[in-house]
Amino acid sequence: MQTIDKFSFANKKAFVRVDFNVPLDENFNITDDTRIRAALPTLKKILADGGSVIIGSHLGRPKGVTDKYSLKHILAHVSKLLGVDVQFASDCIGEEASLKAAALKPGEALLLENLRFYAEEEGKPRGLAENVSEEEKKIAKKAVKESQKNFTKTLASYADCYVNDAFGTAHRAHASTALIATYFDTDHKMFGYLMEKEVKAVEKILNDITRPFTAIMGGSKVSSKIEIIENLLNKVDNLIITGGMTYTFTKAMGGKIGKSICEDDKLDLALELMQKAKEKGVNLVLAVDTKIADDFSNDAKTDFVNVNEIPDEWEGLDIGPETEALYAEVIKNSKTILWNGPTGVFEFDNFTHGSRAVGEAIVEATKNGAFSLVGGGDSVACVNKFGLADGVSYVSTGGGALLEAIEGKVLPGIEAIRGY
Ligand code: AMP
Repeated sequence: MQTIDKFSFANKKAFVRVDFNVPLDENFNITDDTRIRAALPTLKKILADGGSVIIGSHLGRPKGVTDKYSLKHILAHVSKLLGVDVQFASDCIGEEASLKAAALKPGEALLLENLRFYAEEEGKPRGLAENVSEEEKKIAKKAVKESQKNFTKTLASYADCYVNDAFGTAHRAHASTALIATYFDTDHKMFGYLMEKEVKAVEKILNDITRPFTAIMGGSKVSSKIEIIENLLNKVDNLIITGGMTYTFTKAMGGKIGKSICEDDKLDLALELMQKAKEKGVNLVLAVDTKIADDFSNDAKTDFVNVNEIPDEWEGLDIGPETEALYAEVIKNSKTILWNGPTGVFEFDNFTHGSRAVGEAIVEATKNGAFSLVGGGDSVACVNKFGLADGVSYVSTGGGALLEAIEGKVLPGIEAIRGY
């Protein structure tokens, strides 16, 4: 497989797919530029080697050309971070883009307008009326798939090689994240540095485990995490299921959960998962006490109770101190740790304590030699909020992509480059 370190970029043009999907405020100021910074090593390396870069990205979920989602808003900041006056093509395909790409000299960079201004990027028809028939939907889908080929071919035509550094979209088989790779032979397509690091971290968690292996799965709903929980049951020694998911398990076991978040149609599933854990010898760890609130707000009245004795009209919004100690004990004795999802409503300052305690226990375990991977939007927000990011082994930039990889799925963006 080709790699960014082996490839000779001198006098070559590289199409680099990055994830510059950064949050912007109402004045188009970037409120968090982590994703741009994450792609800098790759872009700088190519430019320093005497190559030029054509940078492709999406921003937001536009349904067509939308000024709000134009990448022109981030151009100045990208130029500043990259230390190069980045040019801009106001349309990712068409004459302007091809001419500007063709004219790039070594060390120069071109940012293409938002790839998702075209339905062809995702390959899904847009703007269909609600009442269209299944047959019409099929025809529209076929048409967009057909024109996707030309779109992809045009993007590929700008460059001599293809570099994918967008792990955040690696689980999508889009034109610029996967299909474009078919236009380059194996010697001319490769991962960027960020993608290399992400793939390595995921592989370590999946295939190179030092035991005990503990996964901490938090978040609001069991339904959105079933596949990953089932896959993890085949791998981990300890599985901490926490956050809003707790109460579906507590209720399934006959506990009183007041008005805590709960998926009533998943009670049987919760019992099944417990049974599976038992059969596989996995230590499933659930909360024993909880911090309850009389309202879903930061200023609510609070109390600590046993997790299965929550009074009516109250709800569990974080774990309690006994649970923190229980989790910390398990985490500190682990050698491989995966954390996805908070223990409570960490967006409210009064309900961050449990998530912070988990983060701190992970940092301590890491100091003692454990490999720790934190991923999925909210847990990354947690470690950043608590200033713990430097104390864990790896913080993934991928949300959905990371979860799908851990579920055991082959990610199209990865497969397109290395074949599996
Ligand atoms: P997810 O998107 O499924 O990873 O869930 C993350 C969300 O779960 C965060 O926005 C948390 O506020 C929320 N969450 C965590 N614990 C609770 C809880 N006890 N009650 C309600 N929401 C929760």
